[in-house]
Amino acid sequence: MSIESNFFTKAVHAGTRPEPVTGAIMTPIFQTSTYVQSEPGVHKGFDYSRANNPTRQAYEEALATIENAKHALSFSSGIAAEQAIIQTLDANAEVIVCDDVYGGTGRLFRQLFSKYGIKFHFVDMHDDKAIKDVLNKNTKLIWMESPTNPTMKIIDIKKMAALAKNAGAYLVVDNTFATPALQNPLDMGAAFVLHSTTKYIGGHSDVIGGAVMINDEDLFKKVKFVQFAAGAVPSPMECFMLLRSIKTLAVRVDRHCDNGERVASYLAESKKVSAVYYPGLANDRGHGIAKAQMRRFGGMISFDHAGSYDDVVAFFKKLKVYSLAESLGGVESLVNHPALMTHASVPTELRKKLGIGPNLVRLSCGIESADDLIADLDQALNS
Ligand SMILES: *Cc1c(COP(=O)(O)O)cnc(C)c1O
Repeated sequence: MSIESNFFTKAVHAGTRPEPVTGAIMTPIFQTSTYVQSEPGVHKGFDYSRANNPTRQAYEEALATIENAKHALSFSSGIAAEQAIIQTLDANAEVIVCDDVYGGTGRLFRQLFSKYGIKFHFVDMHDDKAIKDVLNKNTKLIWMESPTNPTMKIIDIKKMAALAKNAGAYLVVDNTFATPALQNPLDMGAAFVLHSTTKYIGGHSDVIGGAVMINDEDLFKKVKFVQFAAGAVPSPMECFMLLRSIKTLAVRVDRHCDNGERVASYLAESKKVSAVYYPGLANDRGHGIAKAQMRRFGGMISFDHAGSYDDVVAFFKKLKVYSLAESLGGVESLVNHPALMTHASVPTELRKKLGIGPNLVRLSCGIESADDLIADLDQALNS
């Protein structure tokens, strides 16, 4: 399995062409809020930078290209992108959400949008009956991730798209973990693809951003209206940085996958590890579906440490190459304790049910040498 070779070309050239005035090969940072008009209402397609900006336009074109989408819209964070999708709904709309959704997504839905009359049902998306039990005529969106965060479950995108379609609803896929290099949910029937571009698309742990990709014209217009009316847009500087990052997305993700596969195999053999969650392992519960819908398996791995919680803390302290930090998808390797860090806002009972316990560790494997990553884990687990 491999990333398609034309994706490497697409990533480098998407959205970019020589700048017409100077021939500059890189799209300039159009650091401007407004644009001069020759007569009232007569301009070159740009009137105010909340509505549009040339750097953002180039970046959004690149985002659409890499996700095989007709349209892409960029936002100031992944959460702002999620907010824009939800703000296309009316009060009384219902949304079915996979129960191990990213902690911040659950918080946005439970603690903010529930107040506005939108109802969210959190269900195990491997349980067909649980989905059918909450599906009704008010269901407008089915919202999923695959792989999920942090338990790395694989959900069948085509199956969920068909289910949404039959119910007259739309499927939203948060594709942050897989990236457009490994999985393109719009091609599998999703109506919206969402990214926290903070993660792999940015890739260097230096920008916060989000994006939504859409094929349908009406849905695009609705989200575009929210982007303009509510205004959570990224700055021209951030658009420039993210456009630059897209050029190396294919090579970075390929390397993240190489390292993910090597590290997961190492962990699977370790006596200090009681379970490894990585869809690339042949005995992983999601391996079959992952093979069908992903090109490779990515750089994210979760595992259960076999020792006590004190052993887990000692393990974090001994790591030298992996840094203990929230977030993921950067060139540098990170380690995270979901229960106390990224997923602290998940209700305690649900956390237990999902298996996000004191011994669960999540790794974001960077692009360093796999030998060095394994040596680092080995000394921290065994010394
Ligand atoms: C980080 C993350 C988000 C939220 O994105 P921000 O850029 O932090 O606002 C949403 N979904 C997933 C899967 C994430 O990892």
